[in-house]
Amino acid sequence: MSASLPASNPFAKPSTLPFETPDFSRIKDSDYLPALLAGMAQQKREVLAIANNPAPPTFDNTLAALEKSGLLLERANLAFSAVNQANTNDTLQATDTKTAPLFAAHNDFIYLNAKLFKRVKYLHDHQAELNLNPEQAKLLDVYYKQFVHAGAELPASKQTELKALNKRISTHQTQFSQKLLAAAKAAALHVTDPAALAGLSNEQIAAAAEAAKARKLSGYVLPLQNTTQQPSLESLTSHATRQQLFEASLNRAEHGDANDTRAVIRELAQLRAKKAALFGNANWADYTLYDQMAKDRATAVGFLDRLAPAVSAKEHKEAEDIRALARSQGANFEVTPADWNFYADQIRKQRYAIDSDQLKQYFAFNRVLTDGVSYAGNQLYGLTFKERKDIPTWSPDMRVFDVFDQDDKQLAIFMVDPWKRDNKNGGAWMSNLVNQSYLRGTKPVIYNVYNLTKPAPGQPALISYDDVTTMFHEFGHGLHGIFASQVYPTLSGTNVARDFVEFPSQFNENWALDPKVLPHYAVHYKTGQTIPQDLVQKILAARTFNQGYEVGEVLEAARLDLDWHSLPATAPLQDVDKFEADALAHSGYDVADVPSRYRSNYFLHIWSNGYSAGYYAYPWTKMLAQDSFAWFQQHGGLTRANGQRFRDMILSRGNTLDYAEMYRAWTGHDPQIQPYLDFYGLGSAGAAPPPTAEPAAPPPPVETPAKKGERGR
Ligand SMILES: [Zn+2]
Repeated sequence: MSASLPASNPFAKPSTLPFETPDFSRIKDSDYLPALLAGMAQQKREVLAIANNPAPPTFDNTLAALEKSGLLLERANLAFSAVNQANTNDTLQATDTKTAPLFAAHNDFIYLNAKLFKRVKYLHDHQAELNLNPEQAKLLDVYYKQFVHAGAELPASKQTELKALNKRISTHQTQFSQKLLAAAKAAALHVTDPAALAGLSNEQIAAAAEAAKARKLSGYVLPLQNTTQQPSLESLTSHATRQQLFEASLNRAEHGDANDTRAVIRELAQLRAKKAALFGNANWADYTLYDQMAKDRATAVGFLDRLAPAVSAKEHKEAEDIRALARSQGANFEVTPADWNFYADQIRKQRYAIDSDQLKQYFAFNRVLTDGVSYAGNQLYGLTFKERKDIPTWSPDMRVFDVFDQDDKQLAIFMVDPWKRDNKNGGAWMSNLVNQSYLRGTKPVIYNVYNLTKPAPGQPALISYDDVTTMFHEFGHGLHGIFASQVYPTLSGTNVARDFVEFPSQFNENWALDPKVLPHYAVHYKTGQTIPQDLVQKILAARTFNQGYEVGEVLEAARLDLDWHSLPATAPLQDVDKFEADALAHSGYDVADVPSRYRSNYFLHIWSNGYSAGYYAYPWTKMLAQDSFAWFQQHGGLTRANGQRFRDMILSRGNTLDYAEMYRAWTGHDPQIQPYLDFYGLGSAGAAPPPTAEPAAPPPPVETPAKKGERGR
């Protein structure tokens, strides 16, 4: 074990800044690695002491003790993850490379510890005598199931088999991502005749020439993006080039060479099915969904099946529009999905002409943040925000706010890192620098990261409507963290299932266009005039355009994912293309016009990025979000009372209740699909299947004790 951390390391003790916010003015890049290593060593000692404790197991000396362990590791890792993603450099990346496998091993050290499991199992088997409160019972359940899920209860022979399977699965997952990376790079479209690129802008053509140069090729290269559709397909005027690019995308890792991913896929699907069988599960989806809101394969598949009739009708309808437009322009070829975006973009411009530059004038970043996002937080939940300048951050452009509750008690610290930087990951996200826990006496320190363009000095940052939506989205995650009110960190705040975590964030997006919120922030940056109603109507109208395609391709991918992970262990190795074609043909969607967002051969989410049998979580949480927004609309819209109810029943609950019960308590019914379809203009849901749950009863009390549906780490 490594020596303890020198006192000069800023992580050696909790920060003395408010809420223990890490002091980025003192932390050097070289401080993270020793702190992370010492943190792992310290938690190992703590875990061993718990596992080897001669005293009989109690909740306090086992589970509460585990929840108190690893403070140094968590302190260092939360700060490290923040800077490594938002402000990285070579030192931080080297630290990441070095520690990633150590974290995996550290997790195994805890969850494969037989003595520790014995204590947890003892508590689980004697739960009736322990007199646990609901949150404690939930914590016990979460730990117990996580150990069981890791194989702690399997007989020794099966554990040996499990370890071998885990190793092969992990190797295959790594192989998949490495092969795909190389295959996708090699599959980029290379053209020598510039006429083939007609329709692209001068900047796009210059970028394609640069890409060719970087590969020491003459002419032009269009590299592939990870999805089936490619951005250039919207602009390329040559059907032949579109078709070439599209086929390069579809078949990127199916060239029968060393980077063909199909052999890995067929084995991976079988290895996962075998692992599920070791645990007595019929398939991988059932094995892996145990701690999700959906809980099992049948529920997730049923959700997708119910959407299929309405969505496929819209897919067909949109395809007709596309073909009609192509014919009217004299297309002398058979229109394929490669042509979809070329024509869809023209229809969009005809029908919903929105001048995005005009729109931006109403969305000045500061105003969106304080008079939009924060204002909605005030009107719904009673929050107030006070900016402070005395807390050091990892970038001078960051903003820091104290967040106060309605009684003026401080709930959290909230930070924003707004501007794009070369050393920042793409996209936008939310995370914690300090986790909320009454056991540890810590309150949440939360940050949102965006990638907006930094304005010239003295100029306002004018942002797009998409960016506005993103800010509301990330702040929705922020609220889930700010209102966290748990004793145990494992159950706290956003520490919830994959098919639940995007619910508060997608829900919060809805307030961007609320009639009370929008006029409060969408004010012309020069004239001070409120956004005109006709612009708002255009935003609303454009929202439903092309959604048969955009929603459909996601639902099809979710279905393909679940089908791969429905195979029993006894199934033979599959022919990947045939399996995929059969699965999509039976999906109920219009897959001829709208191909899946990912084909199997490049579906990185499910083969190597931890989303196996979980891709459905994206549309599922959108369903929860829109159904919940419908509840607000039916109950008077944006009011403090409605906001408080949502805060009390969802945002402050972390993972202390069964998700489905929590949801039923909140809306009074199981999640409804129709508001989701309405949001995208997708028509009516198919007939409800025979009820699988109790019909909607009066909402159970908020304190319903949890029984099922726990989540792991
Ligand atoms: Zn999100």
